[in-house]
Amino acid sequence: MPLAENDTVSTLGDRGQRMWLYPLRVAGRFVKARTAVAYVLITLLLIAPWIDVLGHPAMHFDIPHRRFYFWGLTLFATDANYLMFLFGGFIFGIFFFTALLGRVWCGWACPQTVFLESVIRPIEQLIEGQPSQRKKLDAAPWTAGKVFKKVLKFTAFLVVSGAIATTFTAYFLGRDGVFEAQADPFSHPVGTTIFIAMTAVLMFDFGWFREQTCIVACPYGRFQSVLMDADSLTIAYDAGRGEPRGKPSDKDAGDCIDCKKCVVVCPTGIDIRKGIQMECVNCTACLDACDSIMDKLGRERGLIRYTSLNALEGRKLRLLRPRVIAYGLALVAIAVGFTTAVTMREPVEIAVTRMTNAPFVVLPDGRVQNMMTLRISNKTAEPRTFSVAVVDPPRGEAISPVETLVVQPGQVGKFPLLLIRDNPNAASSTFTLKIEDDHGFAQEVGTPFLSTEPDGKDAT
Ligand code: SF4
Ligand code: SF4
Repeated sequence: MPLAENDTVSTLGDRGQRMWLYPLRVAGRFVKARTAVAYVLITLLLIAPWIDVLGHPAMHFDIPHRRFYFWGLTLFATDANYLMFLFGGFIFGIFFFTALLGRVWCGWACPQTVFLESVIRPIEQLIEGQPSQRKKLDAAPWTAGKVFKKVLKFTAFLVVSGAIATTFTAYFLGRDGVFEAQADPFSHPVGTTIFIAMTAVLMFDFGWFREQTCIVACPYGRFQSVLMDADSLTIAYDAGRGEPRGKPSDKDAGDCIDCKKCVVVCPTGIDIRKGIQMECVNCTACLDACDSIMDKLGRERGLIRYTSLNALEGRKLRLLRPRVIAYGLALVAIAVGFTTAVTMREPVEIAVTRMTNAPFVVLPDGRVQNMMTLRISNKTAEPRTFSVAVVDPPRGEAISPVETLVVQPGQVGKFPLLLIRDNPNAASSTFTLKIEDDHGFAQEVGTPFLSTEPDGKDAT
């Protein structure tokens, strides 16, 4: 049985070959707005690991030190609960925005669409010209001119891919790590591998795979059908208004003049007039293309527009539905929870742990000494200087061989600490310390103190 038109992938030829697309770039209000958003997103993505916010890179996933810097917020390994908030926000954000606005992520914010449509295709057009010229060039035999253009284009793609891969690596290695890895690739084998792999993947995508990523590789295109319903916003063709297609002079025809401009601008090669299709990334190109035709004909814009399937069938556009409200409430709850947790979290975290050598030492004067490690996490943006005082026992001493206990912002300081007291009446008692800093922080910490039994026997 022959396949219905929409049962085949738009870029698959009759013999199973890849149909190369030459989409026309269109200018229009949505494409302009989308391009502006794309440049803001590209800027944020590319500058985040290179600029400082409150003394640290705006974004740095410092996995070896188990620290995560996020626009002024420093998260430690012990702050995994915050990452749960961020993860929950990401998941419910996708649920909410897809149920409400359909594939808005694909069209407006996905890095694939953003870089391909706003960086790669403009470069290609600059070097190889308009779609008809590019098609002719690809079909032409190899000449010096063709080789020059192709080398120039792929060199430009390589520069863009390398820049993105460098920034991506900087998210994990940090600025210095990236420069060190690029100066001596063998000093950072992991960073160098990430950089090379990322550059290769991007070159493959920008140079050849392109819309196939959205059509055959990205799981989100399939996932969205579960999250969307007939009331979700989507870009669609109004068949009721457009059909039957005909010449502008034909009084019995609908508004679609079958100029196919909506088809030639589509980056995934589909004809939106055939209905909602999985390949559509909601990029708005066909919408702007059709609006430009309607403007020329003096007809109302919006033959292709943002609408919902129910609205197209004459029902009310109903964006606020129970599932959207439920997802929205969950998102608000996560945002409130995250903000509250961040606002209320202690700026400094203290832990006193026992060293792994002898549990205690009896000093020549009969007193007992425990060797501990004082671990201070400074989660603030400024360096802090700490002091340790003994609260209990009254004649106890806490001595650190380190003169000043300074912990840099976002760092964890580990200091040796000797706790000394008279031999208590029990093998184990408690030592209470008060840790203060030069910014008003003060916290009492209790730690078990080990010693000899009262009769002089070892406690261990
Ligand atoms: S651009 Fe508009 S008028 Fe032209 S074919 Fe597409 S829907 Fe019809
Ligand atoms: S059908 Fe329209 S919105 Fe969908 S991908 Fe093609 S041009 Fe973009």
